[in-house]
Amino acid sequence: MTTHKGLLIILDGLGDRGIPSFGGKTPLEVAETPNMDSLASAGQCGLIDPLFPGMPVGTHTGFCPLFGLSQQQAVELARGPVEASGVGLSSSDQALYFRCNFATIERKGKRFKILDRRAGRINQGTGALASDIGQVDLGEGITASLHPATQHRVVLQLEGIGLSNDIGNTDPGNDYRNKGLLTCQANTPGDAAAEKTARCINRLIEIVYEKLDQHPLNQRRREHGLVPANGIICRSPGKLPKIKSLLRHLKIDAGVISGERTVLGFGKLLGYRLYENPRFTGAKDTDLQAKVESARSALKENDLVYLHIKATDIASHDMDPMSKREILSKFDDAIAPLINDELVIGITADHSTDSNTGRHTGDPVPSLIFNPCGRVDSCTSFSESACTMGGLGRINSLGFLITFLDQMNRLENFRPKDGAYLF
Ligand SMILES: [Zn+2]
Repeated sequence: MTTHKGLLIILDGLGDRGIPSFGGKTPLEVAETPNMDSLASAGQCGLIDPLFPGMPVGTHTGFCPLFGLSQQQAVELARGPVEASGVGLSSSDQALYFRCNFATIERKGKRFKILDRRAGRINQGTGALASDIGQVDLGEGITASLHPATQHRVVLQLEGIGLSNDIGNTDPGNDYRNKGLLTCQANTPGDAAAEKTARCINRLIEIVYEKLDQHPLNQRRREHGLVPANGIICRSPGKLPKIKSLLRHLKIDAGVISGERTVLGFGKLLGYRLYENPRFTGAKDTDLQAKVESARSALKENDLVYLHIKATDIASHDMDPMSKREILSKFDDAIAPLINDELVIGITADHSTDSNTGRHTGDPVPSLIFNPCGRVDSCTSFSESACTMGGLGRINSLGFLITFLDQMNRLENFRPKDGAYLF
């Protein structure tokens, strides 16, 4: 059987809700998208639930099924180790990895107030701050080190014997003004490993503050009217898991094009080829043409290529539906060179993001599959409303991936026992 190559486009946070200034339509419904509309006309559309209907998920959870992981793995995989892989940390059996923010904090008695959860979205000097903190001895045989990721984000590596990830986050979320920085605690009182880990985190928060509050870089930031990066907020701890995806099992070579460290780290964890370029910024200024060009060359050396665009989600988080509409139109324009009669093309997302509130929602994601030799449904445009009428119906992301692989004629050797990868 002839197999087809596949291009799976993931427009982060694509699905949206009606925007009052768009007459109740979504950014995708009002964007000019002739290329995606023609793919919808010549293919099949549907509404896709990332995991379960109505359940909002984060980016890394939403990516799990699209990357070929089971639902069990999707709910168990913590973001800390995914981000650790993104910054190049390799597996150490005894290490625990946390996803952290540099933040601006202020001492208030024995606790800390949070003034800015992202330290003014600091994007310069975090490498120097992390390396000046260095390897911290937290006692009890545990050491800590910080490894900068994108902007204010940083990965914390805790190393030593007897650590546990069964602890609470120190992140109070959006209620940070009232709650302040949370003290780390074991989820189950009396759990010796979790209590030890929590003690180490609380010690580290103090040490980081002592080392950074008067750091020359922070003094310069204050002089320039910027908030200091003098604290860390820790969440999503986990060990680097040994996971194998359905794609590896089926011996499908995959490549990942993204400007976001989380997605790249995840792809690396699964053994996919990464395509990086400083012009892929993971933001609104990303170079769409360069990404499309990279996809064309990646398709020569892979069976399946993931093309990830983060800017759509960022526009929604910024509650800027105009910008989301503009990005969608620009992206639509950029993908014209990718459309041909041999390539199976899928468009979907890791989750929906509502531009009215800036939050991820459990709304299903408008999605399509164009197979030059496949079925055609009655959809003639690509949008949330048009996809309700599509031939793919309403399925979850793993079902979407399986359907996509079948369109590529790559499931010929799929056995019932391979179903273990799906649950
Ligand atoms: Zn996302």
